[in-house]
Amino acid sequence: MSSLRRPAGSTFRRVSWECSVNALDQLIGQLSRLPGIGKKSATRIAYHLLRTDPSFTRGLAASLTEVRERIHPCTVCGNYTEADPCDVCADSARDRTTICVVEQPQDVAVLEATREYRGLYHVLMGVISPIEGVGPKDLTISRLGARVKEGGVKEIILATNPTVEGDTTALYLVKLFEGSEVRTSRLALGLPVGGDLEYADRLTIARSLRGRTLLSS
Ligand code: ZN
Repeated sequence: MSSLRRPAGSTFRRVSWECSVNALDQLIGQLSRLPGIGKKSATRIAYHLLRTDPSFTRGLAASLTEVRERIHPCTVCGNYTEADPCDVCADSARDRTTICVVEQPQDVAVLEATREYRGLYHVLMGVISPIEGVGPKDLTISRLGARVKEGGVKEIILATNPTVEGDTTALYLVKLFEGSEVRTSRLALGLPVGGDLEYADRLTIARSLRGRTLLSS
């Protein structure tokens, strides 16, 4: 009987070893889906996580779950927030006559870090891109129009990235608000063509805000 049990035990060990390899492969596969992380970096991170204190990986897993449960887009501007409306929209000291239009929520954080801008924001959640099949209706443009219609807005600063899609989107918005009482301006000075707002330094963005070009009056 005992000689029959031994192979059963060794089979269990083999299966268990295969499972752990699969879990590691699965983690590497998931990590490599993150932006800027290739297979090589994903592998390095996964092995690093295996070496770290289990309390760190438990905390990391909890943070990943928590961030998805607690952070939502602000129903006014689209910025990621725990409270709704977000801190910027709720701040009565902010200049409510100006709305800075950005592509993604992380652009709000970049602009806020400059401490140069005291107006409100509007996150488009993307850019117009015919190649990728993204049209104006796929973005939050109608919500921006509704905010302008509510009144009080005098200027819209178009802070989309200086890329073909960013420029196309800015131009679309200029035309949309043409003839209205709202004037539009565009970040220009110092921003690298084809670059992302996210990667520009604070000083460059601060200067771009001050030197923005008026596109309509
Ligand atoms: Zn908001």
